[in-house]
Formats: sequence, structure tokens, C-alpha cells
Amino acid sequence: MKISNVEITTYSIPLPEPVEAYAAGIMKAFDLVICKISNDNGQIGVGYITVHENQGLAIASIIKNSFVPLLIDKDPRLIEMLWKDMWKATHYAGRGAPVSFAIAAVDVALWDLKGISLNEPLWRLLGGHDKNVMAYAGNIDLNFNIEKLLDGATKSLEYGFKSIKMRLGRESLSEDIERLEAMKNHLPDDVMLMADANEAWRVDQAVNAFKEIEKFNLVWLEEPIKPDDFKGYSYLRSLGKIPIAAGENLHNLSEFNQLITSDGVDFLEPDLTTCGGITPFMKVAKLAEINNLPICSHGVHELHVHLLASCPNASYLEFHAWRIDKFIETPLVVKDGFTQPPDKPGHGINFNFDKLKSYLIN
Ligand SMILES: [Mg+2]
Repeated sequence: MKISNVEITTYSIPLPEPVEAYAAGIMKAFDLVICKISNDNGQIGVGYITVHENQGLAIASIIKNSFVPLLIDKDPRLIEMLWKDMWKATHYAGRGAPVSFAIAAVDVALWDLKGISLNEPLWRLLGGHDKNVMAYAGNIDLNFNIEKLLDGATKSLEYGFKSIKMRLGRESLSEDIERLEAMKNHLPDDVMLMADANEAWRVDQAVNAFKEIEKFNLVWLEEPIKPDDFKGYSYLRSLGKIPIAAGENLHNLSEFNQLITSDGVDFLEPDLTTCGGITPFMKVAKLAEINNLPICSHGVHELHVHLLASCPNASYLEFHAWRIDKFIETPLVVKDGFTQPPDKPGHGINFNFDKLKSYLIN
């Protein structure tokens, strides 16, 4: 089997309304990069990544200029070999984002193609553990007033979620506490709450925040400090106040290894788009398993549902606020807090390219 064609398209998808998280600020749209890889049997694998606005074209350009020449005529089934070739080709300017995003788009397309050619859904191809995956609503809501914050939580419950994440990192800690109190009072007792500070604090500020936030019994507090302060994570976790989640801003296996071996995290949340695709995500998942840690996910839930369904140490799947539901044939359904991957070959995500057409930016 040989790769006969690689096609890359980039879209700018507007969000229904502006949303805010501390590290990124206000977001009005996100970019979607789609990579289609055809083999000489006429089968097509589709990979994609989502990224902040105005960054998709740079990632698409890495795929076009650096990866397409080395992919054509190669055997698409040799994913580890092709992954290593892409890593090596961009090593000097790479070893992380945005190259990791570019490798991820190709890697997903290769895994999809493998699933299609073997007539196996991705979650079984990757090991197959449990189709029922716990899902939570990863709401982005730092800029919402309390009424709108609670309204968003109500909509998530109506959608079928039993766990919800809200954002922290307002001007003052007292504002964050007020919002947490309002949310806790609003949610039924059987609904779990997570919070994400999106790197809002220094370590000393996080220590203060932990003292105030401990009483809310959060499932976790996510990214209290900047993502690569592994010593800081280790210290905060040693306090034993609140379970810590992190991983979405780590871009290679070495960074995950450092976070895990520094005992800095309770819930690992890799994002296959930021760390180089399905291939490294599964290695992180195994590393987590070896270290007796649960594996969660960040972003692109239609893909991650397959990965978590294949892992014995799977925990929560994030339903990210960047939704592509309008552009795919069968969006995931959430019922009583759980969702399932489709049983179609590959990842089973069929884009409606007619609907996407007006958002094309290249
Ligand atoms: Mg986060």
C-alpha cells in the first residue's frame, strides 16, 4: 500500500459568541486544519486539528512544505516510521508546537486510513477496552456574568452531562470564590464540578487560592500555574489540598515524562492535537497507566473518545467548547454523563465539506 495523495485545507470557524479563558484571552473563532491522505486503493483517511484563530495556515504550511514530500509513495501503515520521519525533518524548528499540531493532523489521517483499510473502528484498533466513556462539559466562561455562567451549566445538564468545568482567573480571588459558590449552589448534588485556572496564578497565589477553594470538593483544579513549571506542580500537589489536572499545553513526550516523574499531576489531560497525534497520546496514556494515573483528554472529543475507549486507565473525556457538530454527519451523544465512539471503520467522523466551504481560508 502506498500514499498517493495528501490534501490540506484550512477553515476559520466562528464561535457562537466570544468566550474567554485566562491564558488565551477572548476567543471569537478557531481554525480547523483538515488533512486527507489517499492510498493507491482509493481509500481516504482524514485527520484534523483545531487551534486558536490565525494559526491554522502556519500549521497547514508545515504539512504542505515539510511533510507532503516525505509522505508520497510511502506505506501509510508504517505510522511509527512516518511519525519519526516527520519529527526528524522538522527537528531543528520543532520538538513541539506548532510542528506537533502539523504532525498530529497527518498522524490522525494515517490512523483513520489504517482503520478504514482493516475495517476496524479506531477504539478497537488501539486496544479496545470500554466503549462507555465518561464525558464532561468543558465550558469556557470566564467572561460571563454569574447569571450567564449558571445558564451555561443548565444547558450542559440538559445536554446529558453529569460533570461540568468552569473557568477561574478573574481579577480577584474573591470573584472566583463568589462564582464557585454560585455554581455549587446551582448544581444538583450528584453533578461533579471541575475548575480550570488556565495558568492564572504564580505558585504563591495558587497556594492562597487552594486554601480558599479546597472546601468546594472539586474533581480537580486544572492548570493553576504555567504548564512547564514542573517544580511548581510538584509543590502544589504535595500540599494535598485539591487534585491537579494538566497536560493540554505540553507538546512532546519528554514534557509529559517530566510532569509525571515530578509527581506534579493527578489527572493527565493530553491533547492529541498539541502533542503530535494519536501515536504519542497513546504513549502518554501507557506512561500514565504505568504510574498509576488516570488518563483524560483536552479538545477534539470526537477523536479522543476512541482513545479513551481503548485505555484501561481512562477517566474523563472533555467535551470542548470549540464544536464542529454543524459540519459532521453524526455528532457524539451524551447520556447520563457517558458517550460512545461510533462503530464505523477508522474514527468514523464524516465532514460535510459543502457546509465547510464558506469558512475556507486557503
Ligand atoms: Mg484547560
